[in-house]
Amino acid sequence: MSKLTVAKFGGTSVADHQAMLRCASIIKNDPSNRLVVVSASAGVTNLLVRLTQSKVALPEQAEIIEAIRKIQFNITQHLNCKDELNHSINNLLDELTTYAQVQSTSACSRIADAILSFGEQMSSRIFAQVLQSIGVDGHYFDVRNVMKTNSLYGKAVVNTVELHQNCQQQLAPLLTKQVIVTQGFIGQDEDQYTTTLGRGGSDYSAALLAEALDADDLAIWTDVVGIFTTDPRITDQARSIKEISFGEAAEMATFGAKILHPATLIPAMRHNIPVFVGSSKEPDKGGTKIQQKVDSAPTYRSIALRREQTLVTVKSPAMLHASGFLAKVFNVLAKHELSVDLITTSEISVAMTFDNPTGSTQALLNSTVVQELEQLCEVTVEHGLSLVAVIGNKMQKTNGVGSRIFDTIDGINVRMICHGASEHNLCFLVDEHQANQTVEKLHSALFA
Ligand code: ASP
Ligand code: MG
Repeated sequence: MSKLTVAKFGGTSVADHQAMLRCASIIKNDPSNRLVVVSASAGVTNLLVRLTQSKVALPEQAEIIEAIRKIQFNITQHLNCKDELNHSINNLLDELTTYAQVQSTSACSRIADAILSFGEQMSSRIFAQVLQSIGVDGHYFDVRNVMKTNSLYGKAVVNTVELHQNCQQQLAPLLTKQVIVTQGFIGQDEDQYTTTLGRGGSDYSAALLAEALDADDLAIWTDVVGIFTTDPRITDQARSIKEISFGEAAEMATFGAKILHPATLIPAMRHNIPVFVGSSKEPDKGGTKIQQKVDSAPTYRSIALRREQTLVTVKSPAMLHASGFLAKVFNVLAKHELSVDLITTSEISVAMTFDNPTGSTQALLNSTVVQELEQLCEVTVEHGLSLVAVIGNKMQKTNGVGSRIFDTIDGINVRMICHGASEHNLCFLVDEHQANQTVEKLHSALFA
């Protein structure tokens, strides 16, 4: 079969008709783009999130649904088939209205996922028609036919074996004849209920589909020209990176470079599928190619910043020359599904960081966890910290990495340092109010 590229368009890329047309041209210009995965039009999922909450008054529900209708109809009005398309969008919004009413009286996570799925359900239908409008044979496909997950609503886990079988049986034959447009972010459990893979999960969906279809490439089209050496909002010296290895990019995604959903690279790495990240607004400007083998492996590649970190220090004399203490601490964390990011230990204390973003759906460190830890040891919890990750290659084996970094930020109080576990990063914590300054200084020292 000829080359297969899976192309994923993010929310801003499918925000309005102009944006969708630009994406449609990208598909048209390269016939290897045969599977298209879309996010919801920008803003729609955020509106839907409000409807997943309980006790939302009826007038507010109606207002939200109208706002969503407006976003979608603003796109469909430019299309010849708008009546038919509007009819199917209205049907979906009727269904959504019913779910929202149920949810507002008795909220549950299963209905929440059903509600959240409507953005992608609509954008994929519309995008298929936008493709048709420029002469590309685009067809809608419901990803829930293939993306089978468990029932962990809000962060469902995909059954990759089933996905592979389903894709080979159902999707692969279609892709030989037409361009298929499907949804990111959503799936379906064994009981046929809709699930979601977590906010921002469309990138991950696209990577899973690329893997299941043995695709040659995955293209993630977003609103920035690839991955940058650091967040361009922090310093205007930040620049796009042409090429980066899977290992480095995975560290960047994990440590806060918001550009890709952190899990996206896992399927790509497993199956060795190169990932391109570019801007659908400026496709000619190129972007970043992420792949296994790259020509250069500089010591310093980028700096990532993750805000709102919580530092937990547990301390117990019982740790002195004892075994099993850490296991108990981690049992408590595992029970609450908390994932630790950085960790350092001394003889009688352990310091750990937790991601703590506002509005996150992931498990957060709460007072119950702290109380359980307090049964074992003395616990100190500190907020208002930022995690800075300097990412590169062979960092643990290169002379002078530590001194170069810490000399540069002399005068800034570094709260915790992690170095050596990964060849690709050196991470540390600083106070929130010094975070930008830290990144700026490092960026001009390491990338000038
Ligand atoms: N629409 C979903 C969200 O906003 C998924 C995605 O865009 O990747 O989180
Ligand atoms: Mg996204």
